Amino acid sequence: MSLTSSAAHDASHAPDHDPNCLFCKIVAKKIPSRTVFEDADFYAFHDIAPWAPVHFLLIPKLHIPSMAHITEAHVGLMGRMMALVPKLALQEGCNPYPEGGYRLVTNTGAEGGQEVRHLHFHIMGGARPWLRG
Ligand code: AMP
Ligand code: ZN
Repeated sequence: MSLTSSAAHDASHAPDHDPNCLFCKIVAKKIPSRTVFEDADFYAFHDIAPWAPVHFLLIPKLHIPSMAHITEAHVGLMGRMMALVPKLALQEGCNPYPEGGYRLVTNTGAEGGQEVRHLHFHIMGGARPWLRG
């Protein structure tokens, strides 16, 4: 299927992986990463440039470029992704709510500060001060 065909822009026909995508390469273990969690649908790994004591990324294995691409078709996947956040945050050393907690960030598009065009949640936590944020 040609990448320029209209079907390629339809979520139900979009490619599962983009061979040029950094995070797809990380999922495929073509680029090394420090694993936090993995199952059939999701991968979590430590951010290479952390700006909080805990800073990891949670991604769907499916290549979804950004939050701007999320539709009703993704409701189940996104629900399961959200449900992983509290579990992984505690596992990685974020302190318990409410004294502890964490920040959940999804940069979207150029004006949203997104650099890698594969949907990812930043989960940041740990004792303050942080490098940023
Ligand atoms: P964003 O700016 O929201 O697109 O975030 C991309 C994040 O990916 C940044 O926080 C980067 O530090 C992180 N990053 C880039 N390359 C890698 C890599 N090879 N392994 C882990 N994290 C990475
Ligand atoms: Zn990707």
